[in-house]
Amino acid sequence: MVATQKLQNEEEVLNPYQIVQEQIETAAAILGLDRDIVEILKRPKRVLTVSIPVKMDDGSTRVFEGYRSQHSDAIGPTKGGIRFHPGVTIDEVRALSMWMSFKCGVVSLPYGGGKGGIIVDPHTLSKGELERLSRGFMEAIADIVGPDKDIPAPDVYTTPQIMSWMMDTYSRMKGYNNPGVITGKPLIVGGSKGRNEATARGCAYVIAEAMKDLGKELKGATVAIQGFGNAGRIAADLLSQEGCKIVAVSDSKGAIYNPAGLDLATVEELKDNSSILDYDSKYHLQNPEEILELDVDILVPAALENVITRKNADKVKAAIVAEAANGPTTPDADKILFEKGIIVIPDILANAGGVTVSYFEWVQNLMNYYWSEDEVNSKLKDVITQAYWAVRSLANEHNVDFRTGAYMISMKRIAEAIKTRGWV
Ligand code: GLU
Repeated sequence: MVATQKLQNEEEVLNPYQIVQEQIETAAAILGLDRDIVEILKRPKRVLTVSIPVKMDDGSTRVFEGYRSQHSDAIGPTKGGIRFHPGVTIDEVRALSMWMSFKCGVVSLPYGGGKGGIIVDPHTLSKGELERLSRGFMEAIADIVGPDKDIPAPDVYTTPQIMSWMMDTYSRMKGYNNPGVITGKPLIVGGSKGRNEATARGCAYVIAEAMKDLGKELKGATVAIQGFGNAGRIAADLLSQEGCKIVAVSDSKGAIYNPAGLDLATVEELKDNSSILDYDSKYHLQNPEEILELDVDILVPAALENVITRKNADKVKAAIVAEAANGPTTPDADKILFEKGIIVIPDILANAGGVTVSYFEWVQNLMNYYWSEDEVNSKLKDVITQAYWAVRSLANEHNVDFRTGAYMISMKRIAEAIKTRGWV
């Protein structure tokens, strides 16, 4: 009753920094964590704001704003992607760096969390402008990153090519080759086999475990994928290889839905050459947001934050929501989905495959010895499968949602490191 009143009367919190702080408090209360530790966990250790002047092709100079947030180095160097997006804010980058700490904790990587972002729509830049911006950003953050300090990677709208430019700039500044400063690189300059698919592959692995958990068959299960970038697109591919039926996909331009199943090869071809909206118009969803409310077995939000909120959470019909994106579900929506009995596999578990293989890439860079794709994928499968069952068991034991279970595992680990180091 009280909870419902709160839901009705107050504006929903959509600031990701406030959201992650609320998630921390929820897990801390169940863990009975010391206040001193909670206060440390609730903010990043360091946030750097940089201005990056870029010579544009027309001869003018444009100044871009970017950030790098480092949440916690209690467990090891910080790690996390760099996002190029017009909607980037400092609070978003802070929150994303905190989610990275908890993500690394869930899969037991020896890292804390970091994240970077630049306010830019990279699609409006030429290749040369994009290269100058990428190199300029690395130059601006070079003092605080490094293979033993903070290791960036790709995120929304950043690519292996961008990682390569950044690695090259850092290496030139140091005067020697430094592949371990960044992950998600192309293979030829020290990338890892399997990294490009890793986020989606990890997501497909946890979905397979969750389906087993529910006693449901993956074969024939229906899937809706919101977002058709690196994670969403490859997840669609991998899940369809497992026999799932991809019935709906969307991107920033719109959504398509055919309850009988989409022809994925056609969707991919259209995505590459024109737009998914060139798919047969009788399958267009008038309101693309309805992709989240379809009657499917598995829903994969694979784009940005705050798409499942208290406005639409009670309309979600999927049995499983697997968060390939970071932060797609708000805390209010989490409560509603939990009450409905929907399994939400939280971002910090569902998309942890990306950073897991980034870790493998970094290890290979430091050893200068490279693994086969099978080796990478089988190690990834072990890590993700184990993490799924650990989260699921703890969540069920405490009768909380999987997100809270996942936070509890990570926060306990970081808290132990903080105490052992003598910070509190
Ligand atoms: N940007 C990805 C994430 O949010 C990958 C981070 C990494 O590989 O370090 O998990």
